[in-house]
Amino acid sequence: MHSRWNEEDSIQFSGDLAQRVYSSRLLGQDSSLVLHGGGNTSVKTQVTNIFGEDEEVIYVKGSGWDLETIEAAGFAPCRMKELLRLAELETLSDPQMAVELQKSKVDPSAPAPSVEAILHAILPEKFVDHTHADAVLAVTNTADGRQRVREIYGDRVVVVPYVMPGFKLARLCAELYPKQAGSQTIGMLLMNHGMFSFGETARESYERMIELVGLAEDYLAKHGAEIGKSIAPPASERPLGRADRRRELAELRRAVSDAARVSMILRVNDDDAARAFATRPDVAEIATRGPATPDHVIRTKRVPLIGRDVEEYAASYASYFDEHGDASLTMLDPAPRVILDKDLGLCTVGRTAKDAGIVEDIYRHTMEIIDAATGLGGWQALDACDIFEVEYWDLEQAKLRKAGSPPAFAGEVCLVTGAASGIGKACVAALLKRGAAVVGLDLSADVAGLHARKDYLGIACDLTDDSQLEAALDQAVKAYGGIDMLVLNAGIFPMSAPIASLSADDWRRTMSINLDANVDLMRACYPLLKLSLRGARVVIIGSKNVAAPGPGQAAYSASKAALQQLARVAALEWGADGIRVNTLHPNAVFDTGIWTAEVLEQRAASYGLSVEGYKIHNVLKVEVTSQDVAELAAELCGPLFAKTTGAQIPIDGGNDRVI
Ligand SMILES: [Zn+2]
Repeated sequence: MHSRWNEEDSIQFSGDLAQRVYSSRLLGQDSSLVLHGGGNTSVKTQVTNIFGEDEEVIYVKGSGWDLETIEAAGFAPCRMKELLRLAELETLSDPQMAVELQKSKVDPSAPAPSVEAILHAILPEKFVDHTHADAVLAVTNTADGRQRVREIYGDRVVVVPYVMPGFKLARLCAELYPKQAGSQTIGMLLMNHGMFSFGETARESYERMIELVGLAEDYLAKHGAEIGKSIAPPASERPLGRADRRRELAELRRAVSDAARVSMILRVNDDDAARAFATRPDVAEIATRGPATPDHVIRTKRVPLIGRDVEEYAASYASYFDEHGDASLTMLDPAPRVILDKDLGLCTVGRTAKDAGIVEDIYRHTMEIIDAATGLGGWQALDACDIFEVEYWDLEQAKLRKAGSPPAFAGEVCLVTGAASGIGKACVAALLKRGAAVVGLDLSADVAGLHARKDYLGIACDLTDDSQLEAALDQAVKAYGGIDMLVLNAGIFPMSAPIASLSADDWRRTMSINLDANVDLMRACYPLLKLSLRGARVVIIGSKNVAAPGPGQAAYSASKAALQQLARVAALEWGADGIRVNTLHPNAVFDTGIWTAEVLEQRAASYGLSVEGYKIHNVLKVEVTSQDVAELAAELCGPLFAKTTGAQIPIDGGNDRVI
């Protein structure tokens, strides 16, 4: 653990709040201290109100902000006097507390203050930092954690036994702090929860946190139980063929989605660290004792699924709910969020790819914490009832009620070919907008950098090369767990040539890309599509040339016509599996790679038209864009067309030869 404080950087942040922003970000940058919105910080200062009077306020981290990226606007200024009075109440329900915290703000537009705001207020020092550090969790989640804490810190920290975060915790700290604090005290340790540090300056408070966490790390190392100690996994006992492995993953994702009753994203991590933990002989025993700290339960659920029996997991989740819950609560979906399987490694589950990624980050730390605590002599998590209390906390349930309805394709995965430009690129955007995770394939390496977000995976791939196609599907299924939608868009438009002088190579190349590659991809994807919870959808980007071919384009027109027949047969064969296959026939979409300004001018001139006139040379006199085609392709995958398969829909502004 080292201090990231940089004096030169810090002087750019002048004033109490700015200093608070600077050192909060330093905490946020270290994932062994805080993860994804975890932890919180505060500073006590004065503001002048409209009457010219000074008021004592505490700026506390607002909910919804992440320490790593927090700004001044991410802190809620609350009146100290009111928070200190609240701390004196005998009882206060957490929803009431949330209301009172909102009322204590001097700026109504500031975010809702952290639920730990009162706790920050009762600590006397100016700056207060709070983290859920891995090393502190590893030491305190052991049978003799309390004794170890005393051994490490002596009287330098106030030690608080575990209670639920919120008002109860603030009350307990208000009672214990004055009893235990002495001249040596620089922090407060909450068992099974995390560490507080405080100081008169931002630097002092921050560096005390680093020191306190560093002491726990040193202690672990001294006992041969350091965090992140690498352990080599055994060789896989059952290496699977690629297609088999993909199908198994998609089956697991389907079982999870069945349990959740909505489509879920499943992400697989089979690197050494994940496999080493998942193949521990004692994994079923140690991994099912509970999370590293209660607030992880919202993301990870209390325990992971060991193996693949999702039904049994869901049944045991329901009995956990029955045991601890009551009629006032609504049971959350019983699907696992973390799966540990000896062959697959660590699988994480979320309603979106971003959620599954957050679960992964949290669980990677959890595995290290469990390993370290086990090394120290025995991992011991909080009782199920403590975890349940946080999982079904009023404030968390209220967040769920407010969440609103998810986008149309939340939890679903779509694969788009020819994704780097034109219609394919627009399809990627249209599908992402509707909440799908999208895998974009393209010959061009540009496809990889199209979007930098967890729900997009771009893979450079030659679809006519079997091994590249296999590798791309492996990557797709590892990232998201399956495929629900296919948009077959990749194709080439060869140079115009009459049949008499058409080269055999051009013919074969056109057929191989526009037709054969699609057959191969459909065949390879079928076992995955079959497992889609809502019934898979295939959209084929055809061409006006199917109905109205032009001279000089024998290869292109024949390839697209054959592709159309392929789509019709697929619609017949796959209907029993609930898979819908429909075709769009665009025409004259000019905002694509092939239509350079030069080509456009030449073609327009050959019809005796201006470029503008040429673009709207159709019955409706409208320009058809890539985005128009993409929006229709995405809608074809949605509920509006739920009962349509085998259809061919022109999107061409009306073509008199087609009509
Ligand atoms: Zn906390």
